[in-house]
Amino acid sequence: MDVNRGKINSPENFFFKCSSCGDSYKISLKDFILKELPKLLQTDSDKLKEFYKKGNLKFYQKHYQKQVINALQFRKAMGKIESGTMICFRENIHVIMGFPKIRRTLVLSEAIEKHFKDEIAVEEKMNGYNVRIASLDGEIIAFTRGGYVCPFTTRKAPEILDLDDFFGDNPDLVICGEMLGTENPYVSHYYPEIGKLGFRIFDIREKLTNKPLTVEERRYMMDKYDLPSVRLFGVYSVDEAPQKILELVRKLGKDGREGVVMKDPKMQIPPLKYTSSQAHDDELIYAFSFPFDLGKAFLFSRVIREGFQAHEMGESAEEIDERAQRLGKSILYPMLETIKHVSENGVAGEDLIMEVDDPEEADEFVRHLRDLGVMAMVLKFEDGKAVIRRIHQSTTDKISNYLQGGLY
Ligand code: ATP
Ligand code: MG
Repeated sequence: MDVNRGKINSPENFFFKCSSCGDSYKISLKDFILKELPKLLQTDSDKLKEFYKKGNLKFYQKHYQKQVINALQFRKAMGKIESGTMICFRENIHVIMGFPKIRRTLVLSEAIEKHFKDEIAVEEKMNGYNVRIASLDGEIIAFTRGGYVCPFTTRKAPEILDLDDFFGDNPDLVICGEMLGTENPYVSHYYPEIGKLGFRIFDIREKLTNKPLTVEERRYMMDKYDLPSVRLFGVYSVDEAPQKILELVRKLGKDGREGVVMKDPKMQIPPLKYTSSQAHDDELIYAFSFPFDLGKAFLFSRVIREGFQAHEMGESAEEIDERAQRLGKSILYPMLETIKHVSENGVAGEDLIMEVDDPEEADEFVRHLRDLGVMAMVLKFEDGKAVIRRIHQSTTDKISNYLQGGLY
């Protein structure tokens, strides 16, 4: 039996065609999970059953532009199967593996030596949101990190990138990249070369195996298909890399940029990330604009990163003082502004701007955000742009309460 020829019409109805005899037969979702999925993912059927029972593996259905995408979604990682992995049922079954987590180093000199072999490719880490783009039998679909079909990205990616030739020749590859710019509705960050909306590719992987192309193969492909890549700063020996990266990251920070990702050129060792002081502060500024929603989760790790970076950079008393002031200001000022804002307007929220063709697209995006558990509403639609207000409820409620004398 050839699982690649499975079809699904509803959660209860899969139709499979036997690769040898050509007969089709029906199989339920439950049987698919118990009998076919273990073979496909080379994993244990009991584990999958347990995962499904607990809701960590879920049936997922998305209506998108008069089409229906049926899939199974991994809400959590299961061994080597990353969280965000999608088993998509179209003409064929497509397994789009989740994008692996990238671990962070706090001290470059020691970690690089321990982690890598002779050489490392140093690329720019860009600050936007992670997207996997795949062709599902000719239909180009963009998935968020968690494995949700993003209606905005699915519409925009083919407008920004010329993907037809790439996927025409390579239907079994997945493009992993970062959606960037001030008018992307998840992470708004200004890059002079990007402006409102842009995309940079940092990985190409195989469906099902999640095997990445080497850095060289990927860059060759990007050239061949004229697709935009993240910057490669250079390939350095393990000995020279820490010093080079420290200088680079200092400079990137001053330019308001996030940092670097270090990669084994052969992509056999997992990459590592390292970020600038200014990036840490930017995240704190964002988190402390909504302190009761984000503050706790962000604070400790960013302060720790600053401590180790200041140590490794061997800064002068003056430089450390500058860092300390910037850190403190990034925490206190945004919070103060939000307290003032809530005292005057009663709500802590942020406005996202996105380009849409009609109000329905904005509504569709708001529905998508609600699926992700984010409270949002369309504030206005004008000249092809929608303003979407995202409400931060805990910050709104708590600040209002304390302002009225509530006890902490
Ligand atoms: P993670 O689970 O990977 O730690 P995170 O949400 O904490 O995710 P980040 O701290 O932004 O994410 O770091 C990892 C992310 O950086 C990747 O998932 C990817 O979206 C993004 N990224 C930007 N530039 C690159 C690059 N050159 N190579 C790899 N990833 C990159
Ligand atoms: Mg990021």
